[in-house]
Amino acid sequence: MDKMGKMKIIPVFVPHVGCPNDCVFCNQKRITGKGTVSANAEYVVNIVDECIKTINKDTFTELAFFGGSFTAIDLRVQEELLKIGKHYKDMGVVHRMRCSTRPDAINEDILELQKKYGMDVIELGIQSLDDDVLRRSNRGHTPTDSKNASRLIKEHGFILGHQIMPGLPGSTTKTDMKTCDVSISMEPDMVRIYPTLIIKDTDLEQMYYEGSYTPLTLNEAVDISAYMYSNYSINNINVIRMGLQGTDTINERGDVIAGPFHPAFRQLVEEKLYLSSVLMTLKGFDLKGKDIYICADKKLISSIAGQRRSNINNLKAILSIRNIFFRESTSAEEGLITIYNEQNKLGSFERKEIFNNYLRQQGEKCI
Ligand code: SF4
Repeated sequence: MDKMGKMKIIPVFVPHVGCPNDCVFCNQKRITGKGTVSANAEYVVNIVDECIKTINKDTFTELAFFGGSFTAIDLRVQEELLKIGKHYKDMGVVHRMRCSTRPDAINEDILELQKKYGMDVIELGIQSLDDDVLRRSNRGHTPTDSKNASRLIKEHGFILGHQIMPGLPGSTTKTDMKTCDVSISMEPDMVRIYPTLIIKDTDLEQMYYEGSYTPLTLNEAVDISAYMYSNYSINNINVIRMGLQGTDTINERGDVIAGPFHPAFRQLVEEKLYLSSVLMTLKGFDLKGKDIYICADKKLISSIAGQRRSNINNLKAILSIRNIFFRESTSAEEGLITIYNEQNKLGSFERKEIFNNYLRQQGEKCI
């Protein structure tokens, strides 16, 4: 995207109308019930026209149909919305079109329709690839649906996205890790990782109050996301989102009852990976009471140090280091992190190595 300049997403919220299900974590029926949203051509035109007023010519624009299950909407409505998208694509106002949907709402005919109107990216809410977890979450589809849909989407030449939700009812670290591993085997082009949150007015909220569901802690969510992020990254699959953020409908409405929510969740995961690599680099050195110096590109320093100096404090506690100082390295060393004590270089690693380092370290813990 860098070469194209900035990217702007034009979000079109498609409500629950398209979805025949009631996943335990989803409150879209409530949103639809209360809201005035009606997905039709005029609705899309208004959103796009309003958005493009503020967009520079060199901005790459993506029209994103999200919420609900786009390809499960009544075909006439779907076609009406797609036609508008194509119209703006033909005008060069929209450069890419994306939708999100359920795995069981994909078939040859639906994909032909998307192709005809220029859809580019199809994101599947696969959430988990464990039968029991899907059943307990009332997803209404199976892992096989996700596999078949992924294959069809790729065969038809779309960009495939996966959305994964660690921490669903009945899940364990093992089932979530397996979901990631099996998802990788389906070769998605991009992934979003959304640790499960308990949203107001959902079945999951009731399960939480009844004690039949316990959400992941923030630490647990960061750990499993770090595993997934690392595993996807070493397989060259782009993790484009981790955790809900301020622009998401649910968060904006202040509806999170419980669960591993953090406004900068991705940052927490990045920090975890850097901590792991620094620890690995310093393994075997006696640094008790000593100072160390970490030399890195200034863009990386905040992730290495951690929010509120969390990594610095952890490193000091674990290795009994006296002080940790940061030095900005020159641009020629971008991505390289080097650690020194007062006299010597102790070691170095590159940004791209943090994923492998993390996985290796987790593997060592398991032995
Ligand atoms: S499939 Fe999507 S829109 Fe439908 S209930 Fe589940 S999460 Fe909500």
